[in-house]
Amino acid sequence: MEQTFIMIKPDGVQRGLVGEIISRFEKKGFTLKGLKFITVDRPFAEKHYADLSAKPFFNGLVEYIISGPVVAMVWEGKHVVTTGRKIIGATNPAESAPGTIRGDYAIDIGRNVIHGSDAVESAQKEIALWFPEGIAEWQSSLHPWIYE
Ligand code: UDP
Ligand code: MG
Repeated sequence: MEQTFIMIKPDGVQRGLVGEIISRFEKKGFTLKGLKFITVDRPFAEKHYADLSAKPFFNGLVEYIISGPVVAMVWEGKHVVTTGRKIIGATNPAESAPGTIRGDYAIDIGRNVIHGSDAVESAQKEIALWFPEGIAEWQSSLHPWIYE
């Protein structure tokens, strides 16, 4: 089953959006497979965002991610990478549709509350980076009520 890496960024934690965000993924029917509350250091944040290291906003982005604790999660389900990105909304909250997390809870692109993997391959890389110890082995008993 497909997995994605979702991170509630420091602004999402500070603004008390943790419960609301987890709830949206849970209610959709996705399964929580990993979760931790951590503050990451600069080298770790730079590694997570390595693909963006040439961008002009890279330093500000790294400062933002290390500015406080984050909630790192692994969610599992059919098409969870693509659907997770839809639940999150467009990168720039000015363009995120209402009803999406960024559309409902963010204004500036540099304070957009949440991260979600953009492809199955990057999800695998990010899960390995954030959860080197591995993730929970379990199957929700709701499975037959969510999948036909
Ligand atoms: N970002 C930014 N300014 C920009 C573009 C991106 O501050 O012009 C930040 C923003 O927080 C975004 C993150 O960098 O979520 C990663 O950028 P990406 O293009 O991967 O967007 P995402 O996958 O998070 O939607
Ligand atoms: Mg991205």
